[in-house]
Amino acid sequence: MSSPQVVDISYLIESYEALFFDSFGVLIDGIDALPGAVDLVDRMNRDGTNYSVVTNDASVSIQSRVKRFASKGFDIPAKRIVNSGSLIADCIIDSGLSGSPALVLGTDDARDYTTAGGAILVELEDEIEPDVVVVGHSGPHDWETTLEELLALFSRRYQEGAPVKLVLPNPDLIYPNGPGIFGFGAAAFVNLLEQALERLHGSDDSLKATRLGKPFAQIFESAIKRAATRNVVMIGDQLETDILGANRIGIPSAVVTTGINRRTKGNEFNNVDQTLTPQYILHSLV
Ligand SMILES: [Mg+2]
Repeated sequence: MSSPQVVDISYLIESYEALFFDSFGVLIDGIDALPGAVDLVDRMNRDGTNYSVVTNDASVSIQSRVKRFASKGFDIPAKRIVNSGSLIADCIIDSGLSGSPALVLGTDDARDYTTAGGAILVELEDEIEPDVVVVGHSGPHDWETTLEELLALFSRRYQEGAPVKLVLPNPDLIYPNGPGIFGFGAAAFVNLLEQALERLHGSDDSLKATRLGKPFAQIFESAIKRAATRNVVMIGDQLETDILGANRIGIPSAVVTTGINRRTKGNEFNNVDQTLTPQYILHSLV
């Protein structure tokens, strides 16, 4: 693959039948709309552009996300949002865990996605142990205590031959949380738990989380189905999620420079693995 080419947003709109936008780092910075983003959405709505927001968000429902976008000036209807939270229900059903006790570390909306799959909610201190643990959100939390309790639970159940299923809807390790500020995503804590379990029991797939969002295929396939075309470009700010995921399923991608990625020129990707290299660099949404 040659170096990524610097293009503008109009080029992408004209070249592809549909556009997928990551949310954090592309449209918003975690607090406010990024420059040009609201106007771009207005323009696409007006022109009937086929676009979707494809986000690793599992902490709020689609309806809450519509409202949060609206509070920042965006007119993005529910049908244009594909998030990783909405994949939780299918994951529980496909794993045969409907009707099973589930612990959700996350928001009420993450709990709703889990019960939509037929799971029954329990808490860590309940007598009934979870058969599935969904780590849906990071946020302020006493992670050290929770991880110690989960390590003991997962370790014992593994030794009993009845491993607990671990589900990570949002595989982002870090996320932008304001200019120059980053938060640790749920993946950071799931990674710690997996590493500790591997240290205790060796490498075993039953001790690894099922990851639902970007860069994994399920969320992209869901968005492609919605867009009704594979002639799409993914616009994102993270090489390890947006770009890797697009490359894996064979769609082109453009990296922005307003989020986690800081490379602004094609030759700055010379030492980057091909799987993480986009076709395009997009400096601005204007
Ligand atoms: Mg992002």
